[in-house]
Parts: sequence; structure tokens; C-alpha cells
Amino acid sequence: MKRRTSWVAAAALLALGASASVLAQTYPNKVVRLQVPFAPGGTTDIVARVISEPLGKALGQSVIVENKAGGGGVVGATETVRATPDGYSLGMATVSTTAANPAINPKNPYNPVTDFTPIINIAATPNVIAVHPSFPARNYKDFVAELKKNPGKYSYASSGTGGIGHLQTELWKSLAGVFITHIPYRGAGPALNDTVAGQVPIIFDNMPSALPFIQTGKLIPIVVAAPQRLTQLPNVPTFKEVGLEPVNRMAYYGILGPKNLPKEVVDKVSNGVKKALEDPAVRKRIEDTGSLIVANTPDQFAAQIKAEFEVYKKVVDAQGLKLD
Ligand code: GLU
Repeated sequence: MKRRTSWVAAAALLALGASASVLAQTYPNKVVRLQVPFAPGGTTDIVARVISEPLGKALGQSVIVENKAGGGGVVGATETVRATPDGYSLGMATVSTTAANPAINPKNPYNPVTDFTPIINIAATPNVIAVHPSFPARNYKDFVAELKKNPGKYSYASSGTGGIGHLQTELWKSLAGVFITHIPYRGAGPALNDTVAGQVPIIFDNMPSALPFIQTGKLIPIVVAAPQRLTQLPNVPTFKEVGLEPVNRMAYYGILGPKNLPKEVVDKVSNGVKKALEDPAVRKRIEDTGSLIVANTPDQFAAQIKAEFEVYKKVVDAQGLKLD
């Protein structure tokens, strides 16, 4: 009896596997959802909207972007983890959801290394600390001097609790010896709106969403996280130049799905993104934001996520960082 049960179970599993593979071969035969785990207007949203249309063309099906903000990106990322692994529910991979939040939150609902199928890293983006024009400093030295003179007077906006902006700013605060209060938002979009409106004097953001405000004088850039100075902002130093190399980390934006995504689906989406990035106009839209196109393999992206998670775990341990 026992034997018969296991034989039936094995046959059922085989049939399931076979039908998953048949489904993967005809993929995609309906609309693909690409979820952004943050509010509109942030870098995750920008990169998703740049890639979704040409990716849809490459796949021969529409790719629609859906925003699901909350919990520093964890609400949306958890939805992607729990989706059926058929390739129709994909999500944007961010540092906040695959490294920073899982590193700081022992109760994070998923494991970033085992619960996703990484597909492709689209781009690496620099980060920036910027201030409202009313802030009494125009460069890094004066900025730090003003904060040291007035501990606790100022606050900073981030894209969410436990995210890249939160953790990187807390790391910077402890290395620079300053104190400013954290104000989390549901993404960089709303965080930028309030900073530009003067509600919050300082923001940590990823460059693509902050740059248009910097270029129009609505925000003043103070320091950037990038391998070298950006051609768009030649007068702004990197964290490395101001002696704080550990904060000099970029962000990444890629595509992932739930674990156990069939290889055919992974290859189709990965090749579709690569094809989309062959178009010079698409590349330019990404590169004009100061970002670097990555377009790596699923294995390379998986290794990158694992490494970034380890980096953030070390930061959390070394600095004794806790949620709130
Ligand atoms: N800046 C992103 C957004 O709000 C989220 C943070 C990240 O890149 O990890 O869209």
C-alpha cells in the first residue's frame, strides 16, 4: 500500500513537472506583471517603466508595472515570493528588499537567498545625500559642521524603514559622528516630494529619481556613493573621497521571481531584457541617470544578491543597528 502511494505521488509529480515545462515552453501567453515594491516616482519605478515596454516587445506580450508599497518594500517582495512560479508574477529586485531589510529584520518573512529566483540585474545606480536649498550648507564640510553644531535638529527622508537609504544613512551617521532623525516613506517618490517641498531638510536617495530635482536646483547634492565622480555632477565628491569608503556602495535594480521558476522562463525574461538593452535609446534613458547597465546572468545576479545581503548583515552587526 505504502509502495503504491509513493508510486502514485511520483507519477503525479512527474506529470506536474511535465506540465510546468509545457507551460514554460509556451510562455508568455498572457500579460506579465512586473511588481514595483515601492510607490511611483522612485528609482525602482523608473527602471521598471523604462524596461517594461521593450521587454514586452521582446517577449511578444505586454509587461505591466504594478506598484505595491509598504514595509520598506517587504510587503511587495513577500507577494512576489508567494506568487505561483509560472513567470506571470515577477518583481523588481532592490537592495532594500533583497539585502538591507532581510539583514536588519530577524522577522523578515522571506529569505532573500533561497526564496527568490534571480533573473537579471538591469542596472547599478549611484546614491546621493541631498538637501533642500534652505539648508545652510552647499558642500560636505559645511554640511557635517552644521549637523555637528546642532545634534538632533535635523531629520532625513528615506524610501522606507530598513531599506538602503535607512541603513546607509545610519552607517554614515555613525562613521561621521552626527545625529539626524529618520523619517521613512513608502518609497523614494513620496520622500522626494516632501524634501523638495521643504518638509524634511535632508534625503538619502538613489540617483535616477533625485537627479531631475538636483538638475533643476530643487535639491542640493552633498555627497554621492559611486566608484568615481559623476559626469552629471562633477563638483560633488564621493563618500570615498570624504574618507568614508564603507558608505560608497551603489544600489542595484533587477528582475526576480518566486523560487522554482522554470529555467525556460528565466532564460526568456533574461534574454528579453538583454534584447531591450540593445536599443541605444533604452540604454541612454538608464545611463543618463548616472547609472551603469549590468545585464548579467541569473547565476551572477544570485551571487550578487547573496554578497550584498552578507555586506548588510555585517553592517547591522558592526553598528548594532536595529529597526527603529
Ligand atoms: N529607491 C527605491 C524606491 O523607492 C527603493 C530603495 C532601493 O533601491 O532599494 O523606489
